[in-house]
Amino acid sequence: METLDFDLIVLGSGIAGMTAAIHATNAANGGIKIAIVTKLHAMRSHSVSAEGGISGVLYPGEADDSINLHAYDTIKGSDYLADQDAVEILVKNAPKEIEFFDHIGVSWNRDDVGRIQQRAFGGMSIPRTAFAQDRTGFFMMRALYDELTQMKNVFVFHENFAYSLLIERGRFKGIFVLDLATRAIRLFRAKACIIASGGASRVYDFTTTAHSSTGDGIALAYKAGLPLKDMEFVQFHPTALIPSGILITEAARGEGGYLLNKDGKRFMEDYAKSKMELAPRDIVSRAIITEIDRKRGFKDEESGLGYIQLDLRHLGRKLIDERLPMIRDMSIKTLDVDPVKEPLPVRPAAHFTMGGIHTDIEGRVMIDEKKSAVQGLWAAGECGCVSVHGSNRLGSNSLSQCSVWGRITGLAAAAYVDSLGGAPLDKVSADTCKREELKITNLLDSDGSVNPYDVKAAMQKTMGELVYVYRTLNGLRGAKKIIGELKKKFKDIYIKDKGAVYNTNLRDALEIDNLLELADAIVSCAINRKESRGAHALVEYPKRDDTNWLKHTIVYKTHGGVGISYLPVKITKWKPEPRVY
Ligand SMILES: Cc1cc2nc3c(=O)[nH]c(=O)nc-3n(C[C@H](O)[C@H](O)[C@H](O)COP(=O)(O)OP(=O)(O)OC[C@H]3O[C@@H](n4cnc5c(N)ncnc54)[C@H](O)[C@@H]3O)c2cc1C
Repeated sequence: METLDFDLIVLGSGIAGMTAAIHATNAANGGIKIAIVTKLHAMRSHSVSAEGGISGVLYPGEADDSINLHAYDTIKGSDYLADQDAVEILVKNAPKEIEFFDHIGVSWNRDDVGRIQQRAFGGMSIPRTAFAQDRTGFFMMRALYDELTQMKNVFVFHENFAYSLLIERGRFKGIFVLDLATRAIRLFRAKACIIASGGASRVYDFTTTAHSSTGDGIALAYKAGLPLKDMEFVQFHPTALIPSGILITEAARGEGGYLLNKDGKRFMEDYAKSKMELAPRDIVSRAIITEIDRKRGFKDEESGLGYIQLDLRHLGRKLIDERLPMIRDMSIKTLDVDPVKEPLPVRPAAHFTMGGIHTDIEGRVMIDEKKSAVQGLWAAGECGCVSVHGSNRLGSNSLSQCSVWGRITGLAAAAYVDSLGGAPLDKVSADTCKREELKITNLLDSDGSVNPYDVKAAMQKTMGELVYVYRTLNGLRGAKKIIGELKKKFKDIYIKDKGAVYNTNLRDALEIDNLLELADAIVSCAINRKESRGAHALVEYPKRDDTNWLKHTIVYKTHGGVGISYLPVKITKWKPEPRVY
């Protein structure tokens, strides 16, 4: 097996990964050899599809905005499960990150005097989301990629799939990678690694995310025995087009869009009178599903999906073309509906993984809930749970999280590499390499009777039906049983394509295996948490229960299945209070 050696591996090339690589490079004055390993072409990373913007207080004092208010909004939005010390780091640093992206060439929308404009987002008291039309992620990614291509110390391995994380005696050693173009298997060794591999929303079928959002990095950590945090909290974005799941950004409501039921009523007045359509996503999603369940929604005859309408007509063509051109274009192309003339049919879709790899406030990957970290391993972006979103993320806080912890982890990893000086890389035994090689060859040789895509479809259907916006204990237990059976079935799959060049059949099987592990973790944590908080709405326990459940869930993969323990939430200034909007 070929071995490639680096100082630092960045696993993932979205906004978190590229930001980390750039800051690590700058901190080391270019004297650090970095591999970016990414299963896609770097510029196809899911971050390119981020639409509405990035949060950060650019104009403190104006309209009474302040860093403290951004923190308060985020913590209240999280239903008090976010760690408040981490939130304080997020909000203090977010403005600096927006400025950084300005310097590297993001074309923010600006007002008449040239200041960066900020738009309203759900759960935010003040408009504080900077944006580049409704293609913010694309513009940020393009600027990052331009920077990176000028850095001679950074080597990007496009279309290379990491399938195993090697940690020995609490220390990161390397990752095993499948080259999708040739099926070559390589060991990448390094002193340090930053996992920035994105979220896992593809455990669901009806989702706003790319097909690549399969949570591989989270699953790799989990399979390596590392704990995950708060996996029960999956964000459902209220406004995804039916039947595709294509996102209509929250900015559409930030710009003034209405949600209407079939009686033409702006029903959010019954659920969040003061915020209306700009209540946090968990609340709006529950409101939509309640309307549909109470027969006040619409039904799409072809897909059978219930929906409500997002009406933008009153915003006018000029504003829509200036600030929301992409969603207009996508609605026309995919549905033949022009939001300038007609309301859009939408319902909640899986969108964001609030849980993830358990890290401390510096993004260090933890071994357990007792503050011991893996040496040389960090996680940043959506795959990591630091936790700033708690049980419900506010829109536009993810891009700030990716940027802030991209920088923090990049700087920390560079300092760690520097501290090791010229120490040689750890040896990896031939037995380990053989074992890892066999994982791929055995999978490729699979000749069972089960189609892996059927397993994936059944898992996604189960998650969509039983682990959606509202959950019941019976439904969750049923889901746990089905996922368990699917995991067993998966052992008997066949891989039809035995070829070496772009064997997507093989890659898909690796991804499905990861998704099954994460679906199991999500369902197990959801059964365990006997309260309703943020995105976890459990019908039998409809109230938040701070006495028993103001704590993070920590979940481990064990021989018997899933092990759960807890970690206290860090409260600094904001005592939990009723969450009313
Ligand atoms: C449609 C949409 C719009 C959004 N809009 C906004 C917004 O306006 N504002 C906001 O704050 N948030 C938004 N979000 C959320 C936000 O876009 C994401 O949370 C964020 O972009 C995640 O970035 P990331 O760098 O963590 O990971 P990603 O951008 O998902 O990148 C993951 C990377 O990991 C790599 N990878 C994964 N698995 C492997 C593997 N096995 N081997 C090798 N490489 C691997 C991938 O190739 C990719 O490069 C939106 C989400 C969606 C779905």
